[in-house]
Amino acid sequence: PSAGGDLLVVDSALKQFPGLVAVSSISLKVRTGEILGLIGPNGAGKSTLFNLISGTLHLTSGTITFDGQVISGRTPRQIGDCGLARTFQHVKMMPNRSVLENVMLGAHRRAHVGVLASCLHMERREETAIRAEAIRQIRRVGLEDVMMQPAGSLPLGKQRILEIARALAADPILLLLDEPAAGLRLPEKKLLYKLLRQLRAEGLTILIVEHDMDFVMSLVDRLVVMSFGQLICEGDPAKVQGDQRVVEAYLGD
Ligand code: ADP
Ligand code: MG
Repeated sequence: PSAGGDLLVVDSALKQFPGLVAVSSISLKVRTGEILGLIGPNGAGKSTLFNLISGTLHLTSGTITFDGQVISGRTPRQIGDCGLARTFQHVKMMPNRSVLENVMLGAHRRAHVGVLASCLHMERREETAIRAEAIRQIRRVGLEDVMMQPAGSLPLGKQRILEIARALAADPILLLLDEPAAGLRLPEKKLLYKLLRQLRAEGLTILIVEHDMDFVMSLVDRLVVMSFGQLICEGDPAKVQGDQRVVEAYLGD
């Protein structure tokens, strides 16, 4: 994908839950090489949109195209194979396993080995390659000092970075991050911020949902704002910050 082109195109995405339209005909584009921020009050539909893009939920109607291929209707695994990786709003990992083992799980997906099978009986040669890739990603994000520690023993800031390393191990071209800075202390946020700017400089495209305004405003190239399932504003951070609809959407949140 060429820089500045459309990497992800969400076209009229609609998701209806019983009694509620969580995502109401959203259209947006993520350009290759950018960090796009997705913000909006609680319940706006941000995580639902992430789930639609990554295939964990199915669209009621609409189309999602990634890297020139229609991915709506495919499974999360198939979408991952196209080069899309994500983290979740609530940390998902194996707390008693080491940082290394957790990141190796991300690399397995790339190696086309079932997660359980790969954990239990892995071919020696395969394991060596997966381990090497996991270590490469652990160094990339700066977690080499805690590589052998149980993931659950890490402070939250490092757990979030571990999740990013695991996503990177699948070799994505687009990374979806759902509130990665939530609950972090300021020094942890600064580390995360530095890492995300580094990944962008390395050419990765990032779509990020984030509640911390100071964090997201200085991080992203562009923003889209959702409220009650609808896209209410988009543009560069300065423009969005001054938009009356955005101010109103956040009143009482
Ligand atoms: P956000 O991430 O912006 O806070 P969500 O996407 O989590 O918002 O939720 C949007 C709306 O959809 C909320 O009203 C939420 O209660 C509802 N919702 C989310 N997931 C489901 C689900 N699986 N079933 C029914 N309603 C859901
Ligand atoms: Mg959410």
